[in-house]
Amino acid sequence: MSRIIVAGAGHGGLVAAMKLAAAGHDVTIYDRQKENEYYLDQIDFFEDASMTYAGIEIPERYRAKKNNQLTFIANGEDTPRLTLPSGEIVSTLTADRKDLHDYLLGLALQNGAKIEYETEITAPVILGSRVAGIKTEKGEIYADLVIDACGVHSPLRRNMPSFTMIENEPSQYELLHTYRAYFHNNKEMHIPETDYNLYLTEDGTVGLMWLVTEDEYTDVLIGRFHKTDYSELAPQMLKIYELNPHMGTELLRAGYFVDIPVRQPLAVFVADGYAAAGDSAFMTYPLKGSGIAFSLRAGTMLANTVLADKNGLYTLETLWGYEKTFFKEIGNTACRLALAEIFLNYLTADEVTQMFRRGFVSTDELASFSKGAFEAIIKSKVFPLIKSKMQFLNDMPELKAKFGALLSNAVTFSTSVETAFPNNYNRADIEKWARKYNEFFKLIRRKDELAPAEK
Ligand SMILES: Cc1cc2nc3c(=O)[nH]c(=O)nc-3n(C[C@H](O)[C@H](O)[C@H](O)COP(=O)(O)OP(=O)(O)OC[C@H]3O[C@@H](n4cnc5c(N)ncnc54)[C@H](O)[C@@H]3O)c2cc1C
Repeated sequence: MSRIIVAGAGHGGLVAAMKLAAAGHDVTIYDRQKENEYYLDQIDFFEDASMTYAGIEIPERYRAKKNNQLTFIANGEDTPRLTLPSGEIVSTLTADRKDLHDYLLGLALQNGAKIEYETEITAPVILGSRVAGIKTEKGEIYADLVIDACGVHSPLRRNMPSFTMIENEPSQYELLHTYRAYFHNNKEMHIPETDYNLYLTEDGTVGLMWLVTEDEYTDVLIGRFHKTDYSELAPQMLKIYELNPHMGTELLRAGYFVDIPVRQPLAVFVADGYAAAGDSAFMTYPLKGSGIAFSLRAGTMLANTVLADKNGLYTLETLWGYEKTFFKEIGNTACRLALAEIFLNYLTADEVTQMFRRGFVSTDELASFSKGAFEAIIKSKVFPLIKSKMQFLNDMPELKAKFGALLSNAVTFSTSVETAFPNNYNRADIEKWARKYNEFFKLIRRKDELAPAEK
């Protein structure tokens, strides 16, 4: 039996806690929150297969009551909108964030894990080459293994020494600062025909915005690649009200600013005595950051690897299998999506609008990409699709060149970076690979994107 710390009650950490405690390990979860409090007051969508993958029963209340029909909206009144056909959306669950947290935590506790609330973690305890525990405001706590599920601003990841090869901070364009808010609906006003609208670009600034109209509320999310505040978003909100008169001004829930990582996963997220799962290792869908599914899967992979380490060593070597499984099943595809995300940052609002006007991607094509989103993403159908569409852009050489660069980056990634991943543990090979991976992503980002993200 090993003593295992789950640092932060993130989704991947809770799944790992459940499985490791069930196998007889002494697992304690430490979180800064108070009991029965949760820092996000929102509703999330996530893929149901990830719960099955983690061996967790899906509560009926999470089954989506309606099919969110996604509509993409570009600039300009006269630009055609793209609405995915009904019934073509991935099998999605809808859960209140606190409910999901309580459910996963309940399973971990039922299986024998313990939790200590109101414990602010500040850094890892490093002894020699090993993470030997966590530093907290209450003192140091030691363990055989520390699972980092502290989320995007993890103080463990940020303070890992350089010899671990773990990147401490994301850069500016790798973090989306988002405003999330739920407003009441004015039911006497016209309710929009499309209920799940994704505004690809709005005022030419880089970012995204969605507006989801449910029966009782309208859910707004605005994302920016720099620290933002109410005063900056005020004109944006006014525009949203103009376009959506049904949206009331009474704030029902949320109304906060939070950060989502939208980048490739960490090159290395395991070390002697340490493994990260979830946002702490940037395991999100790089285009939109919906990382619950990735976290649930990663927590499962990590638990399986820990259970296979019968000697309880938990070293870079014995934990490498977790990293290998993650990259094979999720990480490499997440990297391709990161390439697409970087590419989108290069597009101007006008170019996106032109693509819509010219029917660069049809509704059916988008639908087939979105259908079973996880599966489609895994198969990365988007790059062959883009290739076949390049002739649409013959009279837009700049845009065509940008697509050309995207495809060339995708090819370099597949033929040079992905293939360099060390399937068998060898520290020198891991160092070589991590350097190659990090340099590749640095090289394809513009200089101004590489400034450290504001927190
Ligand atoms: C506005 C918004 C909307 C999103 N919508 C979706 C969605 O619809 N679907 C989806 O799949 N994902 C969504 N995501 C992303 C999703 O939140 C994360 O990818 C997912 O939760 C995985 O993160 P995590 O579980 O690793 O960490 P988190 O959920 O961030 O959990 C981290 C835990 O660590 C604790 N913690 C943090 N720091 C410390 C510390 N120093 N000491 C002690 N404890 C600490 C926190 O209290 C928290 O309990 C959204 C994110 C945001 C911000």
